[in-house]
Amino acid sequence: MTAGDVDYYALDELLDDEARMTRASVRSFVEREALPLIEGCHAREEFPRALIPRMGEMGLFGANLKGYGCAGLSNVAYGLIMQELEAGDSGLRSMASVQGSLSMYGIWRWGTEEHKQRWLPEMAAGRAIGCFGLTEPDHGSDPGGMETRARRDGNGWVLSGTKRWITNGSVADIAIVWAKDGDTIRGFLVEAGTPGFSTRDIKGKFSLRASITSELILEEVRVPASALMPGAEGLGGPFSCLNQARYGIVWGALGAARTCYLTALRYGQERKQFDRPIAGYQLVQQKLVHMLTEITKGQLLAWRLGRLKDAGTMRPEQVSLAKRNNVGVALDIARLARDILGANGIVNEYPVIRHMLNLETVNTYEGTYDMHTLIVGRDLTGLDAVR
Ligand SMILES: Cc1cc2nc3c(=O)[nH]c(=O)nc-3n(C[C@H](O)[C@H](O)[C@H](O)COP(=O)(O)OP(=O)(O)OC[C@H]3O[C@@H](n4cnc5c(N)ncnc54)[C@H](O)[C@@H]3O)c2cc1C
Repeated sequence: MTAGDVDYYALDELLDDEARMTRASVRSFVEREALPLIEGCHAREEFPRALIPRMGEMGLFGANLKGYGCAGLSNVAYGLIMQELEAGDSGLRSMASVQGSLSMYGIWRWGTEEHKQRWLPEMAAGRAIGCFGLTEPDHGSDPGGMETRARRDGNGWVLSGTKRWITNGSVADIAIVWAKDGDTIRGFLVEAGTPGFSTRDIKGKFSLRASITSELILEEVRVPASALMPGAEGLGGPFSCLNQARYGIVWGALGAARTCYLTALRYGQERKQFDRPIAGYQLVQQKLVHMLTEITKGQLLAWRLGRLKDAGTMRPEQVSLAKRNNVGVALDIARLARDILGANGIVNEYPVIRHMLNLETVNTYEGTYDMHTLIVGRDLTGLDAVR
């Protein structure tokens, strides 16, 4: 256990050497190479693109996928990568999640052999970037209502519509676009530069500023028949990808929570008011104990979920429970840490407010906190409260 760890229940003993080594190397990458860039990127609303080749070289993209140049790590080791990236910034983890769990997984699971050979090794190496276009301006929690259309045209397809809130959209070489052919949702690979396909970045975000978020505009975009991912039909296609990314978020949120908790702990031990360190007051200790307790419970949840995923028995509802819980507690912890830092909690001299604002997005994307409540509620009762 290193100084930057929170491991109250000796969870380290449950990890194998591969997981521990992976965690150490990603933590060192984040501390030495990413953190020096993050505040500047946050201020300028840009992703630190110089890190992408390094992330590829380290095998961080699609790290739990097998073959095609991917690292083939266990899901626990993969989760620890997400945890360490998000301990730096949710934007770093979002980049890796969208690249690996949404885009690469989508191709790996639903693409043709040709798609896989063409894209996966390049994406694993960080030489090609992917994005995942599901959400639309008027259809977020209910993607089944999407208005983007796919029309057969001779041998190919014509795509029309608008996707919004798409991470990596304007920097992507390849976009996975979900569109309706009649009533059937299908997935297409649309290459950047295809006539009729353009992107526009969304500026003015207060959250996830060190991440690119774009609109994808498809105006009668003609793609060949080979652009279709033949395996995916219906919402099961995009949902299978979201499930992978949500799994990564379960771990990632704990990274952001850890940074906030450790910052508040150190601050509380040093900051004196009424002649004593504020960490010596009962109310502050109660907050710190609550933070540690929730991180510890979240770690156990994430670890167990990883083992279920490795065994192939993880259910989507179990992912929902853990995404809902771990992001919810991380946001709570970030707000408490912000409070313990007093006025210093609102400036970028400390990472807390950045994490707190980032976690607002994490609570919303990949299924909102409330949507996951309804998914688990339906699982328990057999009654659907979504509609
Ligand atoms: C920074 C960022 C990056 C993103 N990246 C991507 C990406 O790469 N690709 C992509 O496809 N999407 C992406 N998204 C979109 C994200 O997945 C959606 O924002 C999310 O699904 C919620 O949709 P919405 O924003 O339209 O909210 P809405 O669906 O309009 O929800 C608004 C509120 O209503 C509640 N609500 C909705 N329906 C119900 C119901 N039946 N019962 C009770 N409450 C309900 C929600 O819980 C929420 O509180 C991103 C979003 C952000 C902010």
